[in-house]
Amino acid sequence: MRIVIIGAGPAGITVAETIRRFDRSVPITIISAESFPPYSPPAMADHFLTGRDEPLFWKGRDVADRLALDVREATLVRAVRLAAKEVELVDGTVLAWDRLVIASGSGLYAPLEGNDLPGIHDFKSLRAARALLGRVRAGEVRTALIVGAGFIGMEIALLLADLGVQVTIVELQDRVIPRMLDVETAAIVARQARSRGVELRLGTEAKAFIGSTAVDGVLLADGDALTADAYIAATGVRPHTEFLQGSGIETAWGLRVDDHLRTSAADVWAAGDVVEAPDRLTGEPYVHAIFPNAVSQAEVVGRNLVGLDTVYPGAESMNSLKHLGLPVMAVGAPSGDEEFRWRSGDVVRKVFVSDGRIVGFRLAGDIRAGGVLHSLMVSGRSLRGFAHRLADPGFGIGEVVGRAIFA
Ligand SMILES: Cc1cc2nc3c(=O)[nH]c(=O)nc-3n(C[C@H](O)[C@H](O)[C@H](O)COP(=O)(O)OP(=O)(O)OC[C@H]3O[C@@H](n4cnc5c(N)ncnc54)[C@H](O)[C@@H]3O)c2cc1C
Repeated sequence: MRIVIIGAGPAGITVAETIRRFDRSVPITIISAESFPPYSPPAMADHFLTGRDEPLFWKGRDVADRLALDVREATLVRAVRLAAKEVELVDGTVLAWDRLVIASGSGLYAPLEGNDLPGIHDFKSLRAARALLGRVRAGEVRTALIVGAGFIGMEIALLLADLGVQVTIVELQDRVIPRMLDVETAAIVARQARSRGVELRLGTEAKAFIGSTAVDGVLLADGDALTADAYIAATGVRPHTEFLQGSGIETAWGLRVDDHLRTSAADVWAAGDVVEAPDRLTGEPYVHAIFPNAVSQAEVVGRNLVGLDTVYPGAESMNSLKHLGLPVMAVGAPSGDEEFRWRSGDVVRKVFVSDGRIVGFRLAGDIRAGGVLHSLMVSGRSLRGFAHRLADPGFGIGEVVGRAIFA
């Protein structure tokens, strides 16, 4: 049997590692678009701040040798042929498979005019991030303009601010991280970011990147144009499914999968940002493009490939900001039938409850309760008269409270 994995991101390499835990001999080929060993995108900002390699190359630089993988680096799959059980690479190489894993992740989604102008940076790969940081280090970037104040946009802004760059972010919505944060938590995050020197232009629509041969400005909907030394698109991500067009594998926004993470095609599996997996709480298919989902999906695929029948429990929506200087955590739904809230200064806790169960929470300033709240949420445990205690400042932090809940 031959296994081919498309993509060597967190999902692809974890599929390979999981298979190897059970099977040392099955031939595994990984096709990697990158010319680096597998890396962890969430560790990129830290890597650029500290120069340390270790959390970035999270499986070790020698992972391919250690796991006996045939890695095809710096190339892409351009077509998948189901009937012949083959993939074709961009250089025309054809590889046969018995089992195929699609772990091609996501790329930048920038639905703005002028998005193909040379000079627009993004942070969706180590190569792209290096290109930006190379310019910063060369002293070419004193000012930067970021379009989009989602988690990735904020992370880039804080990194660049730490490196002495004057950063402006333009965000269409009236708050930062609008898909994950409520108005109150977002306001705390915005104040903290501003105190770190980041200029936020909220409720401001960027219409287009402009320039004749390369980008030299961003045109706003009100007709103003903003300029900077560097322009960065952080407007969202989109699953990499373009090479599957015409293959017969069912895609929507992402790849459609069943509860074992099988695609619509026999012997073809998928994991990570490319997948539209059922949400753990709602059961609705959704692309929750975060690292823990990529890894847990990959483990499920790896186990299924070695014959251990494993059901995927569902994807979660979860994120935290690492470089804000104030811990922030956003998990699950942004609202519920009831809200339990506690606030003191910039420390805020909001827990959303529906049908007697936690469906989401937002923490800022103190995230120590995150573990207990998350466990309660994913267990689907009924709060049985505990709900009012969710607003206690000590709830989920003290051992006593923890013991009481789980008793
Ligand atoms: C800057 C940044 C910060 C982040 N911070 C966090 C965080 O704090 N917490 C968190 O949970 N998540 C975070 N994420 C998201 C997290 O990195 C992703 O969810 C995770 O990387 C998904 O892994 P993946 O393997 O599915 O996809 P990817 O990491 O996108 O890897 C897929 C790989 O497949 C390659 N590929 C694509 N098409 C093809 C093809 N046709 N042939 C061959 N290869 C192909 C891609 O180039 C890529 O190398 C962050 C992401 C970024 C960019």
